Amino acid sequence: MELVRKGLIAITGTTGVGKSQLAIELARKLNGEVINADALQVYKGYGIITNKVTAEEMLGVPHHLLGFVDSSKEYTVQEFERDALQKIHEIHERNRVPILVGGTNYYIQSVMFQKSLVRDPGSPQDGSTGVQPNDRSFEQSRVDKSNQQLWEELKSVDPIMAENWHPNNRRKVLRSLEVLHTTGRKHSEWVADSEEARRKEETLRFPTLLFWLYADTPVLNQRLDNRVGDMIERGMFGELGQLAKDLSDPRAFGGSSDDFTTGLKQAIGFREFEAYLKAAATDSKTSESECERLKAKGIEDMKTSTRRYAKRQITWIRNKLIPECRSTLGKSTRAHPFVLDATDLGQWKSEVMNKGLFIAQKFVDSAQLPEAAAVSDTAAKLLAEVKEKPNSILAWKRHFCSVCSKSAEETPDGVALEVWLNGDDEYNQHMHSRQHKHNIKHRKRGSSWHKKDGDDARSCDAPSSKRANTNLESTCD
Ligand SMILES: [Zn+2]
Repeated sequence: MELVRKGLIAITGTTGVGKSQLAIELARKLNGEVINADALQVYKGYGIITNKVTAEEMLGVPHHLLGFVDSSKEYTVQEFERDALQKIHEIHERNRVPILVGGTNYYIQSVMFQKSLVRDPGSPQDGSTGVQPNDRSFEQSRVDKSNQQLWEELKSVDPIMAENWHPNNRRKVLRSLEVLHTTGRKHSEWVADSEEARRKEETLRFPTLLFWLYADTPVLNQRLDNRVGDMIERGMFGELGQLAKDLSDPRAFGGSSDDFTTGLKQAIGFREFEAYLKAAATDSKTSESECERLKAKGIEDMKTSTRRYAKRQITWIRNKLIPECRSTLGKSTRAHPFVLDATDLGQWKSEVMNKGLFIAQKFVDSAQLPEAAAVSDTAAKLLAEVKEKPNSILAWKRHFCSVCSKSAEETPDGVALEVWLNGDDEYNQHMHSRQHKHNIKHRKRGSSWHKKDGDDARSCDAPSSKRANTNLESTCD
C-alpha cells in the first residue's frame, strides 16, 4: 500500500472515549507510529493522574513525545509544535504513518496548521493597508472630537466598518478613519481583500484525516464520574502527594503555589485534593471526620472539573478545529474530519474501530473517502451543528464584559475602563481568561457599574474612557 504523500492521521476527543486504543489499532493495521498530543502526558511519571497508556497497552507500537519531560519543567505549545513536526518527518522517512493522538486540541491544531501568513486584519499592525499605524498627527487632528462624533464621521464614510466598532472604541474608530484618509480607500475594503487572500492561502501542513471520537454527554459524564473512583483505587493519592512534593522543590519552575495553570499543576485532581492531602498528612492534627469530609468534597470537585474540561474540549473541536478543517475545502491540501460514535462502549468495535479502520485505510490508499455525514447518525448531527468559520471581521459581534469593566469611581485615576470583545471567539476566550476569572473572584458584585444593554450602549458616550488591555489568553483549553 502506498501512503498518501506525507499524510497525517489525527485523533481527538474528550477523555474516556478510547482515543489511545483506536490509535494503537490503526497503527498496527496501517504500519503506523503514535505521537502523543496530550499536554500532561508529555511529562514523566504520573501515569494515573495524566491517564497515560501503559507499556502493555501499547502492544509494541512505537509511541513518541510521551512521558519525556521532567515534571519540574514547563513544556510549551511552541516546543510541542517543533518536536511533533520533527517526529512526523522521521516517521515519514521510515515510510510509516504518523498518528497524532490526544485531547489537547491546540496542540493538534498547532501541528496541522501553519499560522496564517496574512496578518490578522483586526490588528492595528495590519499590513494589508500599507499604512503605518500610530500616526500621532492624525490622532492629534481629531483630538477635539468626542467618541460619538468620530463614530458618526466613520459611519458617513465607511458604514460597514462603523458597524464593527463601538463608538467608545476610539482607537479602532480612529484607525479606520486614518486608513481612508491615508489610502483613499475604505478600511472595510482593505479588510475584505485581506480576508480573501487568507482564504486562498494554504495553511494545512499535511493531507490530514481527523477522527473526532464522541460520546453523548450524559453517558460520557457517567463514565467520567466512574473514572474518579477507579483512579483513587489505582493509587491517585500517592501520585498527587508526590507531585505536591516535586513541585514544592525550589528548583521547580516558577509560579505561585496557587497558580494551577502551568505544567503538571493543571492535572485535574491536584487542586481539588490539595486541602484533603494537607489534612491527611501524618503531621496534621486534622480530625478523621474532617479528613473524610475534605476527601468527599475533593471527589465531587474533581468530577465537576473533569466534566467542565470535557465540555471545553468539545467546544474547541466544534468551534475551532472542525471549522478550520472545513476551511481547507477546495484547496490542494485537504483536512478530512470524521466523527466516530463512542457513546456505547459495547459497540466500540463496530462503531469506532471497524469504521475508523475502513476510513483510515482509504485515506492511506489515496482512495475515495466516504461521506463524513454518512458514517453514523451522530456524525450527521454533529457535523451539521458545526459553525462555519466565523472569522470574518466584517461579521463580528461586539460583547461587553460587565465583570471586568469599571466605572470612573472604581478606578484609581477616575477614568472608566470598558472591556469590549470583538466577536464570539474573543468573547469566549475572554470568559476563560485568567483576568476574567480573577475579576469574578475579587470584584464585588453589584458594583456601581451598570451595563447598558444593546443599542443603548452605543449612545453612551464616554470621551475619556480608556481602552482595556484584555490580555487574552491564546490557550483556553
Ligand atoms: Zn471579563
